[in-house]
Amino acid sequence: MKMSKMLVSTLREVPAEAEIASHKLMLRAGLMRKMASGVYNYMPLGLKVLKNIEDIVREEMDKAGAQEFLASAMLPAELWQESGRWDAYGAEMFRLKDRNNRDFCLGPTHEEVFTDIARNEIKSYKQLPVNLYQIQTKYRDERRPRFGIMRSREFIMKDAYSFDKDEEGLDKSFKNMHNAYVKIFNRCGLDAKCVEADSGAIGGANSAEFMVKSEVGEDDVVFCNHCDYAANIEKAPSTPEEALKEEFKEVKKVETPNVKTIEQLVEFFNTTEKKFVKTLIFNADNKIIAVMVRGDREVNEVKVTNALGGVINLNMATPEEVASATSAAVGFAGPIGIKVSRLLVDEEVTKMYNFIVGANETGYHFENVNYSRDFEGEVGDYRNITVGEKCPVCGKEITISRGTEVGHIFKLGTKYSESMNANFIDENGKEKPFVMGCYGIGITRTMASVIEQHNDENGIIWPLSIAPYHMSIIPVNVKDEEQMKVAEELYNSLKELGIEVLMDDRNERAGVKFKDAELIGIPMRVTVGKKVTEGSVEFKLRTGGDNELIKIEDVCKRVKEEFEKNNLKVV
Ligand code: ATP
Ligand code: MG
Repeated sequence: MKMSKMLVSTLREVPAEAEIASHKLMLRAGLMRKMASGVYNYMPLGLKVLKNIEDIVREEMDKAGAQEFLASAMLPAELWQESGRWDAYGAEMFRLKDRNNRDFCLGPTHEEVFTDIARNEIKSYKQLPVNLYQIQTKYRDERRPRFGIMRSREFIMKDAYSFDKDEEGLDKSFKNMHNAYVKIFNRCGLDAKCVEADSGAIGGANSAEFMVKSEVGEDDVVFCNHCDYAANIEKAPSTPEEALKEEFKEVKKVETPNVKTIEQLVEFFNTTEKKFVKTLIFNADNKIIAVMVRGDREVNEVKVTNALGGVINLNMATPEEVASATSAAVGFAGPIGIKVSRLLVDEEVTKMYNFIVGANETGYHFENVNYSRDFEGEVGDYRNITVGEKCPVCGKEITISRGTEVGHIFKLGTKYSESMNANFIDENGKEKPFVMGCYGIGITRTMASVIEQHNDENGIIWPLSIAPYHMSIIPVNVKDEEQMKVAEELYNSLKELGIEVLMDDRNERAGVKFKDAELIGIPMRVTVGKKVTEGSVEFKLRTGGDNELIKIEDVCKRVKEEFEKNNLKVV
């Protein structure tokens, strides 16, 4: 490609709307442009990278025995009503009506569609296992679209769905996908770690996420410093801390005017957060429930949702709802006399002595409260694990880092096949529901995550495997016939080798061209300058290192070397 012909405009200024490196660089390097909040157009350079990532995904999925498929993006409501998700999906689903007033949505994910395909097309156990995948645009009306294509409202996903005759088959399909994902992210140059994730009602070790460590990530990931354990904080079990044993004291009602927050209480009672128990009130599908955790702990809403079973929407209660449960203003809730449909008590609370809780009366707290003697509830793990707590596998200390989810593999079991009546005939002639798995990769989010991991102050540093162009050729002076002749010859012979070359034939200063090639992140650069008269050109890697002076006839060899170093074939 000749730069003079390519539709690309790089920006020197950092666009005000962008907060994180990948978003800034994608705009500055002219890879994409914004259309609306969370909706982007991909420019030729950006599209090339996306296609390269898609090619890798396609190759590894095919190698793993999956078959490519393409479903419609516009989906009829009936399918979603069958599975019960038409209502459950809520505001995140883009909904529309056709001219006959029939309901449709723009697919946020495709479990229903693939289950429907399987029930119509797969009849017998002899046809199983089947794994179908597609690379397609998804639509989600995210509450907070942000960070460019990291969390957008229209994005490209690879989603796959496996159909097996039993759990054993599903285990194999799941492992198979896990292995394919490891290869995919490796090949994209992305350091992604597989971590245990929450699998909701299905439970067990049935869900894993591929996480990229990143300060701008929206998930908290728990890592063990000593063993391989890694899990999303949603999932990682906490270990209750046992307080020092004390004799039970008599409950005392204390006037605490205007003392509501834990910080204010700590000051008022002149003690530590560990002496308090917070009672948080939630609306869970229009039922009011309360969760109790120690004063310094955070409620884990995923654990709470799982404990409640089948809850779709869990929200903090409104002040009116708090008042109806506690007969008090916000800040004075406690377990004694509270009116809620369920009271969940974090196990740690049962190992505390003589603690302080709200008195369900505005302006009052109770001191010396003890679990079991003064109240009871459903005891379980309802809080987030914290740094320094025990690894659930080896017992050593854990750490917590921010992470971005780039892929997700999930054992669905018979959740969809049962609700949608998707059956096959087994060895004994009996009808059985398919045992399913689903597997997603955010293609566009992967692209942004690679940039997050590979950039410097000058721009993007693409891994050779997904770079929009493998190399650039920069003639220093396009008016110099000799330089242009050598540049053209190199351009043609490299292209013949199957190498993607971007020739910067613009009549610009060399400095401008260098800056653009660096910003765009092209892995290799050949500069054709004055030294051509001596038969030499300069070769430089975007990852750093010196400008190497090499003979013109050695350029192809040098480029091939880089391909070999990266375990890539030159075609
Ligand atoms: P998140 O927790 O980030 O919202 P999710 O659990 O909703 O993700 P899945 O439904 O498992 O995501 O989708 C599979 C993959 O699609 C994710 O691993 C992620 O890479 C990608 N993805 C999901 N939502 C978005 C989005 N709004 N923008 C870009 N990529 C997304
Ligand atoms: Mg989501």
